[in-house]
Amino acid sequence: MNDIINEILKLKKEKNAVILAHNYQVGEIQDIADFVGDSLGLSQQAAKTNADVIVFCGVHFMAETASIISPNKKILIPDTEAGCSLASTVNADQLREWKLQHPGAVVVSYVNTTAEVKAESDYCCTSSNAVKVVEAISREKRILFLPDKFLGQYVSVTTGREMEIWNGACHVHEKIGDVNFDEAQAQHPDAEFLIHPECGCSSACMLKSQLYFDCKNTHIFSTEGMIDYVKKSDADEFVVATEIGILHRLKKIKPAAAFYPLNEKSICEYMKMITLEKLYESLRYDKFEVKVPEEIARKAALPIQRMLEIV
Ligand code: SF4
Repeated sequence: MNDIINEILKLKKEKNAVILAHNYQVGEIQDIADFVGDSLGLSQQAAKTNADVIVFCGVHFMAETASIISPNKKILIPDTEAGCSLASTVNADQLREWKLQHPGAVVVSYVNTTAEVKAESDYCCTSSNAVKVVEAISREKRILFLPDKFLGQYVSVTTGREMEIWNGACHVHEKIGDVNFDEAQAQHPDAEFLIHPECGCSSACMLKSQLYFDCKNTHIFSTEGMIDYVKKSDADEFVVATEIGILHRLKKIKPAAAFYPLNEKSICEYMKMITLEKLYESLRYDKFEVKVPEEIARKAALPIQRMLEIV
């Protein structure tokens, strides 16, 4: 293991490369990365780094986003099969058709979309800034929100704003909703519950209590919101409802605390496709470059830029 880590670090230096890893990556990838974060944090790192090469340990749409933001840098993804079930729920043709049905509406796309879908959008958002982005749009305007129905419902309840919401979901977060939430609360009565707004259970719970996110010991956060909360919290027990990769980072931040996944089967197979071996091959042989065609990249940069100006 140490050999491959040393080789990766050597290649990284030789090629002036930077390794970005999403919070859902396996522990050893998070440990070797220069930056670990959510989609927005990694996009910002991609924009400001001076590195010539960015190895994106995440899924394909994230590497595309890095290519859009940094067109002059070489963006690599160690496995091209690392896709996203949520991003696959909508393509550019379907979005064009939806826009035709709602002329004049403003399109807000979660970053978990392909570059072509972003190119057809007015704003991008992540789960950490979706509320801010929607609040920045005039109330006179109709909003088409896509593709995640759970995040859309959360934003709609939080902002008190009706929106057209695409019927898409991530298979990982949708499964979390199958868990009996009351049972988990009975098992861990003193724990703080941290819930990601994409997660199926959060919208079900919101319906139960209208303003669920203010309930005792329960908080709805993006992955970075969870990190910030755990840093400040005095609690020593947390139940976490999102992909379990985040637990590695949370445990590093607060080693003395206990962290339980709400559903231990919440694993994104796409995120787990990246291994140290593939990362090494990627750096060694420049595998696999992700380059968004210029015209699409130019159009897709606009909604991303608008988002970054709001955050
Ligand atoms: S966890 Fe869901 S939304 Fe995130 S990359 Fe995996 S499939 Fe996509």
